[in-house]
Amino acid sequence: VLRDVSEQKQVEAQLEHLATHDILTGLPNRSILHDRLQRALDRAEREKKPFALLMFDLDGLKAINDTYGQKIGDIVLQSTAKRLVHATRGLDTVCRLGGDEFMLIVEDLLESGDSDLVARRILNAFDEPIGAGTHAISVTASVGISIYPFDGLDPETLVKKADLALSSSKQRETGGFQFYAPRMDAVNRERTRMEQGLRLALARDELYLVYQPLVELQSGRIAGVEALLRWRSAEMGLIGPNKFIPVAERCGLIVPIGQWVLETACRTNRQWQDEGLPWFPVSVNISAKQLQGADFVDTIEDVLRQTGLSPQLLELELTESTAMGDVRQSQEVLTRLKDLGVRIVIDDFGTGYSSLVRMKLIPMDGVKVDRSFIENIAEDPRDRALVMAIVALARNLGVEVVAEGVETREQLEVLRSFEGQPVDLFHCDKIQGNFFSSPIAPGEVPDLFQ
Ligand code: C2E
Ligand code: MG
Ligand code: MG
Repeated sequence: VLRDVSEQKQVEAQLEHLATHDILTGLPNRSILHDRLQRALDRAEREKKPFALLMFDLDGLKAINDTYGQKIGDIVLQSTAKRLVHATRGLDTVCRLGGDEFMLIVEDLLESGDSDLVARRILNAFDEPIGAGTHAISVTASVGISIYPFDGLDPETLVKKADLALSSSKQRETGGFQFYAPRMDAVNRERTRMEQGLRLALARDELYLVYQPLVELQSGRIAGVEALLRWRSAEMGLIGPNKFIPVAERCGLIVPIGQWVLETACRTNRQWQDEGLPWFPVSVNISAKQLQGADFVDTIEDVLRQTGLSPQLLELELTESTAMGDVRQSQEVLTRLKDLGVRIVIDDFGTGYSSLVRMKLIPMDGVKVDRSFIENIAEDPRDRALVMAIVALARNLGVEVVAEGVETREQLEVLRSFEGQPVDLFHCDKIQGNFFSSPIAPGEVPDLFQ
């Protein structure tokens, strides 16, 4: 009996190809990575030649998707794949690991310095903008490099070290490359240590909130307080949020921690009211991970119910990238929150990536002009001009304006006078900063009213 199995074989080959290749770019996918690395390792060992592992990450793909749409994002990824293949010699392995991450194996290095050239060639391949539809989109990328045998002798180690080098490169600047260096292990250990400490911080009662008042510019009346998180670690001492919040965000701990912050801030504000203080809203900083959680609105409702705080006395601060990352989703969530009566404010305004079109779409009650604009406002007319423009923009959109980080009387005077401009057009509503008061313990807040 004879049977023709060529069709079956063809289907099998197709299936195999589908399983091991990325549909969008046609490149091998993550499933091949280990295999290819092992092959490169065996060969390198045999021939006593180093090889390099490059992790490549396209900067800002999410912003491209948000701005131009998924289709254009796909075209950018396809062009990226083509440019990577072109920039290497065709012999080298180029894999798409998923999302905006690619991995390259560069073999036959004469010496490890060669990978420097390869990295430069790869980054140079992105000097020209990518044509997608009618758009010409400029992109940058970051690269992290590990080298066999110096940085590791097995696939896992080499991948880990290239990853470390990549995150180090992204932290320093975008559009650059970094070789793995042992000090990155130290940075990583520090991060791991902090992460482990943070896991215990809630249970050990090591987190606490301080509060910084917001003051009305014209009257000087206290018009609210912002809750700011602090961590007094048993092992590492007092740590500021700029250090540990990014760690908490990366490992997901920001969700339970943020929940604790919400509960504590709302309960404390309710207590102040019960003590007979004038009513004022408490502002709570919210991370993107919290906002994106499926049940964020329910969480807020629960917290308000449990603490008995009226929704008008809770204000949520979101940064531009948090609020405008996924506009459609935030639009829906923020609209529901506003319907509850909670106030929404955009924090660090002017420093993030946001378009005026989106500003119109996001429901908000106010913006907080970032400290960096206020810092030199007394000396630099350009900062003055920017602040005036931001205030005018916010005013015309009908939202409130807060100036952050007011430290000196001169800064305050500039914000008050604005060279005789009409008060209702160029003046902030509120200021916040160490000039009036730095963040203080909750017990000190009532004294401030005295
Ligand atoms: P932010 O929300 O913009 O908070 C204002 C920061 O500016 C605070 O720093 C505050 O202490 C500081 N500041 C206020 N006035 C002045 C001033 O006159 N001069 C100077 N130089 N600084 C001033 P802090 O407390 O270190 O917080 C830093 C950032 O950490 C916050 O920026 C916020 O983004 C984040 N953060 C703080 N608490 C939380 C939290 O509970 N959850 C989340 N997700 N993020 C938080
Ligand atoms: Mg804030
Ligand atoms: Mg801010």
